Amino acid sequence: MTGTGAGTVTNWAGNIAYAGDVRRPGTAEELRAVVAGSARVRALGSGHSFNEIADPGRGGVLLSLDALPAEVEVDTAARTVRTGGGVRYAELARRVHAHGLALPNMASLPHISVAGSVATGTHGSGVANGPLAAAVREVELLTADGSTVVVGRGDPRFGGAVTSLGALGVVTALTLDLEPAFTVEQHLFTELPLDGLDFEAVAGAAYSVSLFTDWRDPGFRQVWLKRRTDQPAPRFPWAVPAKAALHPVPGMPAENCTGQLGVPGPWHERLPHFRADFTPSSGAELQSEYLLPRHHAVAALHAVHGIRRAVAPVLQTCEVRTVAADAQWLSPSHGRDTVALHFTWADDTAAVLPVVRRLEEALDAFGPRPHWGKVFTVPAAVLRGRYPRLDAFRALARELDPAGKFTNAFVRTLLTD
Ligand SMILES: Cc1cc2nc3c(=O)[nH]c(=O)nc-3n(C[C@H](O)[C@H](O)[C@H](O)COP(=O)(O)OP(=O)(O)OC[C@H]3O[C@@H](n4cnc5c(N)ncnc54)[C@H](O)[C@@H]3O)c2cc1C
Repeated sequence: MTGTGAGTVTNWAGNIAYAGDVRRPGTAEELRAVVAGSARVRALGSGHSFNEIADPGRGGVLLSLDALPAEVEVDTAARTVRTGGGVRYAELARRVHAHGLALPNMASLPHISVAGSVATGTHGSGVANGPLAAAVREVELLTADGSTVVVGRGDPRFGGAVTSLGALGVVTALTLDLEPAFTVEQHLFTELPLDGLDFEAVAGAAYSVSLFTDWRDPGFRQVWLKRRTDQPAPRFPWAVPAKAALHPVPGMPAENCTGQLGVPGPWHERLPHFRADFTPSSGAELQSEYLLPRHHAVAALHAVHGIRRAVAPVLQTCEVRTVAADAQWLSPSHGRDTVALHFTWADDTAAVLPVVRRLEEALDAFGPRPHWGKVFTVPAAVLRGRYPRLDAFRALARELDPAGKFTNAFVRTLLTD
């Protein structure tokens, strides 16, 4: 999160100014006292969401965990890691790698907090890779009365406990599955045409695949293949190998990106697109993303192509990724193998919102679920119809937070008919 003087706290993008009193407890006891003694609380991760999802509203408490010790405990025998609620992926990955272990996947940037990321269904890419929440095996929640509830896989409540939009309590720790460390090479290609696109073959060509376009031309300017060196070398006859390192946003320096040109590197320095110590993406932007069934990928891309003259003027880049179906009730990839259409917009809300509406109309037939942490205008009533386990989540929220201490306007609008 970013302070802008006079006590104002904004999100990373600067398009949201959070209301509420900021509290930064430095110990577990202080944290418990703040939660037990406040009427309304929203935990803040690293503030990388582009909407009001973390905003407690006026009179509420915006609870940052960044003054708490960054606990990371690796269990090499069990191949798990227990991480504190304020820890970011960059730190977690570094500590896990030091033990010769790895997370299965990462988002495009390592700057984001683990708890905030899994709370919104954040994902990387790969036809066999679920969202980041899929690696979570146990959640420790500080609930409304200051008591701790631990929910692990096998608990009937687990389906709601990880991708929870922060609505069940404060996540004080998460335990994640690990695997042996692996090496990844990034192979970039250019000029992949949309016409005749065999999406299944392209998306399955490597462990993680991303396509980028600015929708000025009917095709993809860049294709990023992240190949694990313990898997076969990719065959990619459809596009032209890149001759130099590239940034996915035109005009931005490739030095901000993780190593490319097939140079092997450790998993945590290749799975994210952006390096931990550099500004990710363009830095001045808004983002939207829509997750829909993967079998609609080509039709959905043609639908966007049909409105490209409206989209292109406010677009910095569009990224197309895949996410394997997962079981979290509020996950945008819940129950369906997914294609995710992401849009990095210009930093201009007034110009972008009409285009976002146009895009949502163009994609509506495919039942898209917007990314919970990005800009969208899909009405809550429509969203409710796209989450078959929403009632189970509502029941869990009533059980763990009967007085609604952890709700805000964003969550209330979604959960209330
Ligand atoms: C440059 C950039 C690149 C991005 N790339 C990707 C990408 O590759 N893939 C993708 O899917 N998304 C991406 N995102 C979106 C981002 O991953 C999500 O917005 C994610 O939620 C950010 O995590 P955060 O810690 O900043 O969460 P915040 O925005 O701080 O919070 C998000 C939600 O999590 C809750 N929360 C946070 N911490 C806790 C806690 N300890 N306990 C309970 N609830 C908590 C908050 O209350 C809120 O509801 C990107 C965003 C940016 C700015």
